[in-house]
Amino acid sequence: MKLSWRTALLWALPILVVGFFLWQGSFATSPANLGKNTANTRMTYGRFLEYLDTNRVVNVDLYDSGRTAIVEAVDPEVGNRVQRLRVDLPGNSPEVVSRLRRDGIRFDVHPVRNDGAVWGLLGNLIFPILLIGGLFFLFRRSGNVPGGPGQAMSFGKSKARFQMEAKTGVMFDDVAGIEEAKEELQEVVTFLKKPERFTAVGARIPKGVLLVGPPGTGKTLLAKAIAGEAGVPFFSISGSEFVEMFVGVGASRVRDLFKKAKENAPCIVFIDEIDAVGRQRGAGIGGGNDEREQTLNQLLTEMDGFEGNTGIIIIAATNRPDVLDAALLRPGRFDRQVMVDVPDIKGRLEVLKVHARNKKLATEVSLDAIARRTPGFSGADLANLLNEAAILTARRRKEAMTMLEIDDAVDRVIAGMEGTPLVDSKSKRLIAYHELGHAIIGTLVRDHDPVQKVTLVPRGQARGLTWFAPSEEQSLISRSQILARITGALGGRAAEEVVFGDAEVTTGAGNDLQQVTGMARQMVTRFGMSDLGPLSLEGQSSEVFLGRDLMVRSEYSEEIAARIDAQVRSIVEHCYDEARRIIRENRIVIDRLVDLLIEKETIDGEEFRQIVAEYTDIPEKEQYTPQL
Ligand code: ADP
Ligand code: ZN
Repeated sequence: MKLSWRTALLWALPILVVGFFLWQGSFATSPANLGKNTANTRMTYGRFLEYLDTNRVVNVDLYDSGRTAIVEAVDPEVGNRVQRLRVDLPGNSPEVVSRLRRDGIRFDVHPVRNDGAVWGLLGNLIFPILLIGGLFFLFRRSGNVPGGPGQAMSFGKSKARFQMEAKTGVMFDDVAGIEEAKEELQEVVTFLKKPERFTAVGARIPKGVLLVGPPGTGKTLLAKAIAGEAGVPFFSISGSEFVEMFVGVGASRVRDLFKKAKENAPCIVFIDEIDAVGRQRGAGIGGGNDEREQTLNQLLTEMDGFEGNTGIIIIAATNRPDVLDAALLRPGRFDRQVMVDVPDIKGRLEVLKVHARNKKLATEVSLDAIARRTPGFSGADLANLLNEAAILTARRRKEAMTMLEIDDAVDRVIAGMEGTPLVDSKSKRLIAYHELGHAIIGTLVRDHDPVQKVTLVPRGQARGLTWFAPSEEQSLISRSQILARITGALGGRAAEEVVFGDAEVTTGAGNDLQQVTGMARQMVTRFGMSDLGPLSLEGQSSEVFLGRDLMVRSEYSEEIAARIDAQVRSIVEHCYDEARRIIRENRIVIDRLVDLLIEKETIDGEEFRQIVAEYTDIPEKEQYTPQL
């Protein structure tokens, strides 16, 4: 693709903005950045106060406007040796200072380091200059375009918005883990390369292939690989780009696209997100969408307008074949559908192999283990995962990627960026109890997946996390497994309630409760796992979309609806009682684990189980090892 200056600048500006803030940020004295005075061992604020009470503190250095302290304390247990410990203080605590003065303890307050000031000033100047310069450049450039500045004005000419790649350079070898789809499409390559073979015997070459599957499973990649294998050009456009504000633009884009394609036949035309244009006509709120319908009609006309043996094959991708207009699926249009699904464990291993080709991995790294840790990951997730791990490897200045980087990258891909942990406070204790509630139930209920680790390091939206060793995506899940999951998910709230009382429970369980309700409801309405008996009362997905099914039809009476609610409630209540019972009976070990978790921030599954096993029996779990 040709990258115009304008596009390059549009991309460069946000990068500059972000870079600027990161750069600035690195000058502030953060606790990780305390120069020579770094102490690696941490101590909680509570413990620090205890040390003060027992006169063990000899020196205190305050940093970070009094939010962090490096404490020198003597340890009578090891012959009064001086230890250096790091303490996160709650806010800039003036009372600590007065306490230190009263007790006559040596202390010093260190200002925020300032050697970044000159650079900071320079940075402050550089940024606006770049911004103004960039804007100036943009305006000057767009001034040259006939029809005035900006995109909105140049639509009349219907500038083609599709991309063309003469050679994609992608081969079937680069696509992994979706073997069946590959096999089906192998034939398309032969159509393009040797059409005579088919036309000689009177076979009609298909015009359109619909790739159906969730995002990131490699549909675009597969289409490119077909073009690459057949050695033909690749035209692509996204359905959402067809649908513009201005009536008629979409249709004229379709015309342009097919005109170009015919000039370059044989070729592949790839339409991503075809559901954006190809939805059922006449559906949707407020009558039809004229623009979309015109575009779709144009697309249908174009597809009918050429014969299969002209050598144009249209490949379209969608995640929602059910909303497509029936006319699109008629013979002579997209009459072939190929499923492209998220890979299973074997598939994931293959995808990882493809993306590990150009990366340096330490010998200890087992792609196999990664494949096992990542059920539900799409091809794009896996590619992203290895890339994140490579970035971490570079940042840590390592020669080759180790399992450590990969584990961190998996966590990041699943749960988002790591945040900074809270300082020791009541809410940190509450989060610790909440997470340990999940973890203890996950450990003591036999049918629950085993705990992998518990952590108080926030990630994404979550303020603490309990990770469970994922079992391979099972196609069949038993009733007791679902009940175990519900109980486990209620463990957080149960712990909050048992430990802090009914009045102190927090909003932190909102997400858990949503999952719990969803699971319980499905037990009743889809899987026939309640007293209502083996009835299917709801379809696969209750998702409401504004396509065909505008109204959600309910397939049961009011009376059944009331009974469903009662059943859901009784399942959840039963599990909640169970969760509270387990928490109450294991309060002693939970208290001990909370102290440990607050001190260490992360406890891994093995250590967790060892500690729990000192107090109670852990049921043997069936560790599911998938066959490779
Ligand atoms: P989709 O079109 O299905 O949303 P893409 O083809 O755009 O997905 O996939 C995005 C990226 O993810 C690809 O460029 C590739 O790097 C990676 N990827 C996805 N699926 C696969 C796969 N099956 N094999 C190898 N790489 C894959
Ligand atoms: Zn929770």
